[in-house]
Amino acid sequence: MARHLALKAYGKINLGLDVLKRREDGYHEVRMIMQTVGIFDRLDLEPKPEPGISVECNLYYLPTNENNLVYRAAKLLMDEFDIKEGLSIRLKKFIPVAAGMAGGSSDAAAVLFGVNRIFRLGLSMEELMERGVKIGADVPYCLMRGTALSEGIGEILTPLPPAPQCPILIAKPSINVSTKFVYENLHLDQLSPADHPNIDGILTAIRDGQISGIAENLGNILETVTIKEYPIIQEIKDTMLRHGAIGSLMSGSGPTVFGLFPDQETATTAYEHMRFGESSNLAKQVYLTNFYNLNQ
Ligand code: ATP
Repeated sequence: MARHLALKAYGKINLGLDVLKRREDGYHEVRMIMQTVGIFDRLDLEPKPEPGISVECNLYYLPTNENNLVYRAAKLLMDEFDIKEGLSIRLKKFIPVAAGMAGGSSDAAAVLFGVNRIFRLGLSMEELMERGVKIGADVPYCLMRGTALSEGIGEILTPLPPAPQCPILIAKPSINVSTKFVYENLHLDQLSPADHPNIDGILTAIRDGQISGIAENLGNILETVTIKEYPIIQEIKDTMLRHGAIGSLMSGSGPTVFGLFPDQETATTAYEHMRFGESSNLAKQVYLTNFYNLNQ
């Protein structure tokens, strides 16, 4: 049995996010273009002889009990397979928290993958995904990673060709956005067709390998709610565009904003401006990264 497993859990951005309808059960039907980025949390998993799941995390404000998604992911599989040993999980967070980058879902996905490996449960990727959706709608995608179309509540996934590489700037302002608030205040009947992003346009651009087509069609219907409440998000988008981004968008329900850049030099200058220059008041967390694709 492998005694120790070190894993990376990558964050995601949405190149496109559309909400089609609210279902009777409260879930929303979405159509999203998901893209993994090169910012990751680190997880160390180790079985221990005494039963129970222990979680350690470098961020003091995150829960280490069953409210942490890593705990829930481990418990789900360990209960189902009646595993008598325990598991220790050490989590080092680098993905911004409550940011629209699916950090918690990605951690949970890594734990499902890791528990399956450590305890030799023999579950296929598909079987892990079926269990993952019980923890969170984005967990199946976080198991799959790369560029993908996500439909249903997020569990119907179609892998796409890797999006063409380009430097990305990610900025998270120091505000807390509740995903629940955003979805509750999304009134689809009050929106016009122009508020819906052109997901098919992004799909075509990805299949054609055209980053300019992706940049032109970036769109997130949740901006209609989040930006109205938090204008700083629009300010960050405008700042990125002024500094040479070919497109900029809020990820998920926010407040993280990303910008796509034409080359490394422009991206680095924009990063320095937002990190240290006169726009450094907009966001405390600023990262220069790129798309993470599976063939990397
Ligand atoms: P999404 O993009 O799926 O909406 P998010 O980026 O908005 O995700 P997360 O960072 O995943 O949000 O976490 C949101 C909340 O979930 C946090 O406020 C935290 O209390 C709780 N949480 C539970 N487990 C974790 C985890 N492993 N990492 C981060 N947050 C976690």
